[in-house]
Amino acid sequence: MTEAVFSAPWLKALYRELNQFAAHTQSPVLVHGQQRRGLLSVANQWAAFRLCEQPVGDQACEHCAACHMRQGGNHPDLQVLCPQSVSLEMGFPLELKTGTKPSQEIRVDDVRQLQSFLHTASSRGHERIVLVYPFDALNLNAANALLKILEEPGEGLRFVLIGHKPEHLLPTIRSRCQSLAATEPDYKEAVTWLKGLSVAEPEVAFSLAMNDPFDALDLSNNQIDQLGLRKKWVDWLVSPEQQNQLPAGLEKMGFPVAVELAQRVCADLSAVCQGGTVEVFPWLAPRVLWAKRISLQSLSRVFALLTRQSAIAEHPLNPRLALEFVAQEWHNQLVKTQS
Ligand SMILES: [Zn+2]
Repeated sequence: MTEAVFSAPWLKALYRELNQFAAHTQSPVLVHGQQRRGLLSVANQWAAFRLCEQPVGDQACEHCAACHMRQGGNHPDLQVLCPQSVSLEMGFPLELKTGTKPSQEIRVDDVRQLQSFLHTASSRGHERIVLVYPFDALNLNAANALLKILEEPGEGLRFVLIGHKPEHLLPTIRSRCQSLAATEPDYKEAVTWLKGLSVAEPEVAFSLAMNDPFDALDLSNNQIDQLGLRKKWVDWLVSPEQQNQLPAGLEKMGFPVAVELAQRVCADLSAVCQGGTVEVFPWLAPRVLWAKRISLQSLSRVFALLTRQSAIAEHPLNPRLALEFVAQEWHNQLVKTQS
């Protein structure tokens, strides 16, 4: 997946921007975007380049002593401030008391652990870098502690904060940072990229992955059964003639996924119903023309039902029954009521 991340054109562009940005400011940089994956990889790639002792163009060489230390996770001038759960995912060494769950938040203790790093000079004569990821996970106390550090950063110390919703960050932290918004790939760019990585039916995979290109790649390469289930469900939703029976095993896709896909199909049906174009599942366009005969009122009712279901979707008592209920309502409202 890592190599795939670096081949994504929208992330390459972000990397170039971050490089230019950081070259012109010593302020902390706030890298933010909706995309779940890739932002941290870009920040890591940038840190690697800055710490590398024999960089090649705008990239780390991956062979010098500094690169070796970073690859081993023990470069003395690089720190990642993240929740314990993210530490575990990234394979950092972490000591947890037996019986305790890894924290999902960045806590004030995590920020305090940075103190000794902040007050020692660079070990390798370069700058020192702190990556904060995701900044969304900072709890209030941790955010306040971080603010104090940002107010008086030590010499040669660089901060990059990476996350998704800067509007939820303390305004006093936000105002100290230079903000860099990551653009999301558009449909065409993502599909072209997936095609280049030999994904079969890239349009289908992309939309069934809720327009997340990395999830689309993962579904196609590693979760072909899950991809098949999602396709079957969407196929059922747009086929009134098949709706006398819900295929067996569909619930294995997971109820939250099923509800989200239904919401997306509903958006397309609603567009067609109002004379617009199909945007979420363009490859389904010829198969949703029947939506012209649905009343907007029925679509609104289904939409409201799906919104209610999505609020409780994480914990259905019986996934099969929950899915059958949604399917039944879908059919009653959208197919039976057609004019
Ligand atoms: Zn190097």
